[in-house]
Amino acid sequence: MSVRVRFAPSPTGYLHVGGLRTALYNYLFAKHHGGKCILRIEDTDRTRFVEGAVENLIRSLRWAGIEFDESPEVGGEYGPYTQSERFDMYRQYGMELLHKGHAYYAFDTPEELDAMRERQQKAGIAPRYDRTTMRNQYTLGEAETARLMADNAPHVIRLKVPLAGEIKFSDLVRGEIVVPARDVDDQILLKSDGFPTYHLANVVDDHFMQITHVIRGEEWLPSTPKHALMYDAFGWERPAFAHLPLLLNPDKSKLSKRQGDVAVEDYRDKGYFKEALVNFVPLLGWNPTSDREIFSMAEMIETFRLEKVNKAGAVFDIQKLDWMNNEYLRLKPSAELADALIDEACEKGLTDNKAYLEQVITLVRERVHKVNELLPFATYMFQQPTEFDEEYKAKFWTDEAKQHIPKIIEKFRHAESFDHTTLNGIVKEYAKESGVKMGVFANVLRLMTTGKQVGAGVFETLETLGKEHVLARCEYFLGRFA
Ligand code: GLU
Repeated sequence: MSVRVRFAPSPTGYLHVGGLRTALYNYLFAKHHGGKCILRIEDTDRTRFVEGAVENLIRSLRWAGIEFDESPEVGGEYGPYTQSERFDMYRQYGMELLHKGHAYYAFDTPEELDAMRERQQKAGIAPRYDRTTMRNQYTLGEAETARLMADNAPHVIRLKVPLAGEIKFSDLVRGEIVVPARDVDDQILLKSDGFPTYHLANVVDDHFMQITHVIRGEEWLPSTPKHALMYDAFGWERPAFAHLPLLLNPDKSKLSKRQGDVAVEDYRDKGYFKEALVNFVPLLGWNPTSDREIFSMAEMIETFRLEKVNKAGAVFDIQKLDWMNNEYLRLKPSAELADALIDEACEKGLTDNKAYLEQVITLVRERVHKVNELLPFATYMFQQPTEFDEEYKAKFWTDEAKQHIPKIIEKFRHAESFDHTTLNGIVKEYAKESGVKMGVFANVLRLMTTGKQVGAGVFETLETLGKEHVLARCEYFLGRFA
């Protein structure tokens, strides 16, 4: 049987990085096996409907380079792929479980359920629907149930979970899992408004969409015993399950908005390359080899194995992402980056000269992690500094420097060429003659022309600025501080 997997997000308004990882693992797995990867929108909870959320989700997935073989957009023979368009089917199959004796009517009010939970809490037992004491078709009997139904009494349909014994299933990441049936709740399958819950819709769809492998986040592991029971009750073959490890903050708490960005869009907007994010995210919980970190999508497809996914939670290390983004930044031609940034450079009044912008990018690209840091970092390459790092100035703008620097500048003025090798040679020679350390002059030149302690190589910086600007900047500085 050929592999069919699905990414089944609930549209909450944005794509979580954990969701991106789930989508990527599904995609890598499908492509590795020459199978199909399906996008299904799980929007059964209409109270959480967010305008534009689905479009946003699809846009982010496409940005990341994931194309689905079947989806609400491209269609497919097992559609529709949006759960809100499949409600009749869930109702039909919910009723089938009821008729087969694997599900039942329950009539409890929210107050009655609250009282039950309170009793259980007081007694120190885990909250679970108590089929033997609550108001349902078993406790009320057939006649009373029929009467309530004829009266249109509000009701739900619940899954009939065995009261004893074990529920077993295997997980490709975690191995054999055994859960005592008494720990599994009688899950609501159809709500009082007739809408299905996630559990019913998910199982029905995975079956009819002929999903072979369910690959999803660890938070769904507690739901899987219920799903396994439902497959068995319907008489359907269970798919294989694989639950992916949690994503963690550096302090090992669950990755949350409070400690940083979790939306893929945030990373995109901050200037991370999709190639970097798509390389970084799958390595949260999986690594094809231990000797390198940079992989193309094709290499990841080639090497992906669900069995190699870790059980332990994976820490989302932003520094590693920054490093990786810089690796990709180095691979981008400066001309391409200049194309992308020229409008912004004009708007900010930095430059309208694309050739110069390209030179500046070549100069500073290794000093930043992200594209959108390039212009802020390199502002001094476009505007003459009027402020100078105080600490830096105090350290290097000494009497000795004051005495020698004007002479070096004179030599610059008469230099035949203004490339970094020539400039370096001039300063080196002067340092030798004067007996002052070369580093002192290099620092002062940096201070005078950029105002900053950190930047690209100083002689390369001078070359890129060009003779005219270098002399003007030095004169400005001497005019104020000599
Ligand atoms: N709709 C669920 C989610 O939002 C899907 C879980 C699953 O893949 O079964 O994550």
